[in-house]
Amino acid sequence: MSRTASIVDISSTILDDFILFILQNKIDKIEPIVSPATGPIYPKIQPFLSKYRIDAIKLLEKAAKMGLLKREVYDKVITCPKCGSLRLIARLHCPRCGSKNIESARILVHELCGYAGIELDFKKEEELVCPNCGRPIDEDYQVLGELFSCLDCGHRFPVPDVKFECAECKEGFEAQKARYAPIYSYEIIPEKLGVIAKRVALRNVKEILVEHGYKLEEPPVITGISGITHRFDIIGHKGDNKVAISHFDAFSGENLQSHILNVLGKSTDIRDAKIIDLISADASTDGLRLFSTGENQSIIVYKTLEELREKFREEIKKLESLSPGGSSRE
Ligand SMILES: [Zn+2]
Ligand SMILES: [Zn+2]
Ligand SMILES: [Zn+2]
Repeated sequence: MSRTASIVDISSTILDDFILFILQNKIDKIEPIVSPATGPIYPKIQPFLSKYRIDAIKLLEKAAKMGLLKREVYDKVITCPKCGSLRLIARLHCPRCGSKNIESARILVHELCGYAGIELDFKKEEELVCPNCGRPIDEDYQVLGELFSCLDCGHRFPVPDVKFECAECKEGFEAQKARYAPIYSYEIIPEKLGVIAKRVALRNVKEILVEHGYKLEEPPVITGISGITHRFDIIGHKGDNKVAISHFDAFSGENLQSHILNVLGKSTDIRDAKIIDLISADASTDGLRLFSTGENQSIIVYKTLEELREKFREEIKKLESLSPGGSSRE
């Protein structure tokens, strides 16, 4: 079924970005549309697939194996046993001589004399005439069912043989030899994705800090002017420069407004560090521009990891150019 062979393998970077894509677009279920020409396609994630030019099945299967998605059988379709294509031509054959030249006919019962036979035998030119009693039949008959007749050998049978031909590779095969392949839908497990998305964002930020010569502090806590200890997700320092980073965590039930107020509170109590707040963009972050940020505080709203990395690098650059002690290495 993977005729649209993937051009790129699914790297962990792609998977990380995929998790963000799902969360930001609030996707809860990824369902297929099945067409013979394309096989199953997943419209909701199509923009993401095109961006990386990757195969839907490969991506979804990898995410399912990692426990991020729950796989369910959505449909089952007949596919070519040789090449996996869904583009098949089906034909009916006579089970005795193998001819394709068969047709189905109704079985009629003549109510007046009780004779039963297939419609072909009743036909005399345009009229229906009973072959038993010879009387023309008007409405005094019943249909018992249908039967196939072979126009080559005359055999009559209730069920014809079904044979397929693959339009893609021309392979011919019988119904019994056909692959009956499942097509899956994928349900998102949001708690799991949220945790990973946050971890991935923080990992990217750490990388950039280390790249710029920052040392990471453990545990990531700073004591404020008030004497209160504030906890962050990451704290890094380099010379006189100190950055404290927190990431909004929507999946632990935290409210965005109170999160921002909380960080704002921290930033007024902390004088010796720049505070950077990371927020993964979705519908609830639309009004975020309304919040002004303090001198020693920035909010980074990001849609993709690329955007996060770029904006974070920008912040670090700003920080180093402001600080007299900080040397900016590029
Ligand atoms: Zn084939
Ligand atoms: Zn036949
Ligand atoms: Zn009759």
